[in-house]
Amino acid sequence: MQLENYIRDIQGFPKEGILFKDITPLLNDAKATQECLKILVESLKGQKINKVVGAESRGFLFGMLLAQELNAGFVPVRKPNKLPYETISASYDLEYGTDTLEIHTDAIQKGDKVLIHDDVLATGGTAKAVCELIEKLGGEIVQLNFLMELTFLNGREKIKEYNIFAALTY
Ligand code: 5GP
Repeated sequence: MQLENYIRDIQGFPKEGILFKDITPLLNDAKATQECLKILVESLKGQKINKVVGAESRGFLFGMLLAQELNAGFVPVRKPNKLPYETISASYDLEYGTDTLEIHTDAIQKGDKVLIHDDVLATGGTAKAVCELIEKLGGEIVQLNFLMELTFLNGREKIKEYNIFAALTY
């Protein structure tokens, strides 16, 4: 099965000049979703994971599937003021301005073996901020995985000290 066939290019979304990779055709197909999940799980080579952290909001989709498959807990990382309990936050630079992500303070215990998941690795700002949050809470980052890596944006550079896996690369 060619997973590339389930990723749709949308020119000019969310703004002019951006070529957006749309994962909804993949989500729409049970077999393609299962195949993608299998590839992500196999890349872990049996390494023990007890928490999967997903970044808002498309990171929640496969993040939750991965957590169930690995028999691990799921932790949402969200945009500011979305999580109801006590949080810590990390900020990262955007092209114009900054953005912030938050995590519940009790979501990760010291020594937790953590898998971070998001749909796309672009500039790496989101992934780096998530890593900061996990490490502030004492978690150990085993791997970051993505459905897709946009290699021309060099996101990998920002998180080069970690293990990174992407099911598809562009
Ligand atoms: P970064 O922080 O690495 O620049 O951007 C990654 C974040 O932006 C991810 O959370 C991802 O969901 C979103 N993102 C950036 N570009 C794309 C894209 O082409 N397609 C999708 N689906 N998400 C994207």
